[in-house]
Amino acid sequence: MKKILVVNAGSSSLKYQLFDMENETVMAKGLCERIGIGGRVIHHAGNHPAHEADRPMAHHGEAIRVLTELLTSPQFGCIADMSEIAAVGHRIVHGGDLFNKSVRIDPGVIAAIESCVPLAPLHNPGHLVGIRACIAELGEAIPQVAVFDTAFHQTMPEHAYIYALPYEYYEKHKVRRYGFHGTSHGYVSARAAQILGKPLTELKIITCHMGNGSSLCAVDGGKSVDTSMGFTPLDGVPMGTRSGALDPAILTYIAEHEGLTFAQISEMLNKKSGVLGISGISSDFRDLHAADANGDARAKLALRHFAHCVKKYIGAFAAVMGGCDALVFTAGIGENNRLMRLWVCEGLEYMGLVIDPQKNDTSAEAVVSAPGSRGSILVVPTNEELVIARDTLALTR
Ligand code: AMP
Repeated sequence: MKKILVVNAGSSSLKYQLFDMENETVMAKGLCERIGIGGRVIHHAGNHPAHEADRPMAHHGEAIRVLTELLTSPQFGCIADMSEIAAVGHRIVHGGDLFNKSVRIDPGVIAAIESCVPLAPLHNPGHLVGIRACIAELGEAIPQVAVFDTAFHQTMPEHAYIYALPYEYYEKHKVRRYGFHGTSHGYVSARAAQILGKPLTELKIITCHMGNGSSLCAVDGGKSVDTSMGFTPLDGVPMGTRSGALDPAILTYIAEHEGLTFAQISEMLNKKSGVLGISGISSDFRDLHAADANGDARAKLALRHFAHCVKKYIGAFAAVMGGCDALVFTAGIGENNRLMRLWVCEGLEYMGLVIDPQKNDTSAEAVVSAPGSRGSILVVPTNEELVIARDTLALTR
């Protein structure tokens, strides 16, 4: 019995994937959304047609009941009974400095995740209701595991994670760099070493997770030594709607001149900035390339600014590690946006990274550096759910 359910619960949604870990395949996946404000489910399993329906879900417990019914239904399902599921793995955005690896969930772990709510008020409360709903609906007999986005970055040295603020804010409020997308950075860096046939412990790798949210990571010998996201997932490179790093004085300046409250500033930085903010068109890179092709100057500016910022972090992280043996692209933009990879790599020849335009014409796992490039450039599709399933199996076997 090696079936693992992976759950990513948000405040009003619950994404799930059921893995058969005998061969690491996805048996079913789906999304319950509008939980608490109606309810809608989208579910796919095996060869069954996709199923999409309005289903009332007043809370996450009802979402677990809906997914239980669908997974075990003769019409849409793929298992006879939920007892076939060996364990449930939960994606948790913030584990603060309390978790440096995945753990079995027990009351102490739940309390610790709860204590990190102030650090991730938009994410951790949803994860907690998801965990509690799974325990309530599936019973204590099915073990639950927590896998943290922050855990991989707990190896960062103090001088990398501290912010140059009065030290008391670190002591009192735990204000420091945590980093996110850790499951992805960990997975693609290890996979890159496998593809290159070299020990991970001997490689200096820069991973570029570029999607709707984007972050880069300096992975030295398999360990995160620095990363672009910080105290929250707002730091670093610009994203779809998030600003990325800014001169902090801009915030007080805009608040004063536009009469904005803290809540409005936070909304502006998270929802109205990034490439959407610059272009005024879209947060989606496909829309921006289309607008750029039609001569839209601000769409071009947004795309060029993104490439510029990614390149700056690559230079910074190469400096931090004293070199870069491999540059890895992953996530929606990293895997699919060939032009963006070319722009990011433009001018990196001085550090021994030369991209091959022909090899780069791919969205699949590949080495895309030119023959003779000192360092390697790779495309490695990320698979955060699989990492969660693997960790969950390992901790509950
Ligand atoms: P993610 O959050 O990883 O799903 O990534 C979403 C981002 O990837 C969006 O900005 C998409 O525009 C971008 N993306 C996905 N596919 C492509 C593609 N074929 N070309 C350009 N961008 C893409």
